Amino acid sequence: MSGGGTKLLILGSTGSIGRSACNCVRRFRERFSAAGMAAGSNVGLLVEQIREFSPSSIYIADRENADAVKGLFGEKVNVYCGGNGLERIVNETDYDILLNALVGAAGFRPTVAALSRGKRVALANKESLVIGGDCIRAVVNPNKKPSAPIDETSLIPSLLPIDSEHSAILQCLQAGGGVEAAESITVTASGGPFRNLPKDSFAAVTPEQALNHPTWSMGKKITIDSATMMNKGFEVIEAHHLFSLPYERIRVCVHPQSIVHSLVEFHDGAVMAQLGLPDMELPIQYALSWPQRLPISGKRLNLSNIGSLDFLEPAPDKFPCLKLCIDAGKTGGTAPAVINAANEVAVDLFLNKKIGFTDIAKIVETELNEHNPVKAISVNDIMDIDKDVRERVARKYR
Ligand code: NDP
Ligand code: MG
Repeated sequence: MSGGGTKLLILGSTGSIGRSACNCVRRFRERFSAAGMAAGSNVGLLVEQIREFSPSSIYIADRENADAVKGLFGEKVNVYCGGNGLERIVNETDYDILLNALVGAAGFRPTVAALSRGKRVALANKESLVIGGDCIRAVVNPNKKPSAPIDETSLIPSLLPIDSEHSAILQCLQAGGGVEAAESITVTASGGPFRNLPKDSFAAVTPEQALNHPTWSMGKKITIDSATMMNKGFEVIEAHHLFSLPYERIRVCVHPQSIVHSLVEFHDGAVMAQLGLPDMELPIQYALSWPQRLPISGKRLNLSNIGSLDFLEPAPDKFPCLKLCIDAGKTGGTAPAVINAANEVAVDLFLNKKIGFTDIAKIVETELNEHNPVKAISVNDIMDIDKDVRERVARKYR
């Protein structure tokens, strides 16, 4: 059986964020335990994790892998797989916090399921908020109107962000007087590997070049989203929902060193920022220990070694995905779900060398232009649109 303390259900335990989340459990064995874990296909690592953390339940996508796990652990572990297995593990496991580190729209239903059970969610899966922010808001507080003004409560603490920028904003708000005292927030962006690339060289960019992020080590999908700056558009939508801030009060600033993780400007003109080395261990741990801080040893930020910190405006002509995404966020309703689905398929096509780098933005824009956004939407409606867009884009390009 899993150990004591706060019981975590870690979805995506074999991924970049999931593995760092396991480090947090390792650091604080008395305080955290893994009640459940879920993986896609990396059965080898999942088996190692089961041996180390003894979760009572696990999910693995494929039935063959699920049978292999059952063969190894027998009755000791409940094994879920396939179709609605992710939702079932979220609904049937005994845990305190769902740590959602799945990639893509696949993370949305599990987020809603956990919140519907009244569980806290430590959210890395930003796609949940991008495609279904209004649904999530309705689950967290059914009486609240979809677009709450700045002075109404945010989604904190039902949802605690793992994304480094949103963790930084949360830490600044925590220190500076809350959302009510905030005038605007600035989400920082590294600018990715192509910040200085001339515009006419973008079409020839290869997956290998795009996967070579200058400051962060992450899963493939988010690394490509960072290279197109779609990721920053997603993060603006994420911030809008998380902190109940109107889009007009959310800015984006390119900061190539990735040391200032984001900033909050308060009504009296004070600006607070959270600084640190680009390492996800802190935001993951903070989401789990909030509002407390727990120690992490290791490398420390030394500003004089870094020398200078730069801040620049993003270049919209080189990174069309940023504006496309923020505009879809402002349109609201189903528009962000369309952007996300088209982007997921386009990123996959690019990684498989079926399309070029600049085709990602073109595909997303085409899908958005062909879509008539609808306002009031349920979880099922969003997932239907997600499926339609995926199938249409795949049909066109596969
Ligand atoms: P990875 O690709 O490294 O990990 C994704 C995880 O999801 C893996 O454990 C994978 O399992 C699992 N998975 C994929 N498909 C399925 C499926 N169908 N069913 C069950 N599990 C599945 O991604 P990251 O860790 O980089 O990112 C995760 C999320 O966190 C994303 O939403 C990303 O945007 C966000 N994020 C990531 C950051 C980072 O530094 N990496 C920073 C901020 C946000 P397997 O490997 O076994 O197939
Ligand atoms: Mg981020």
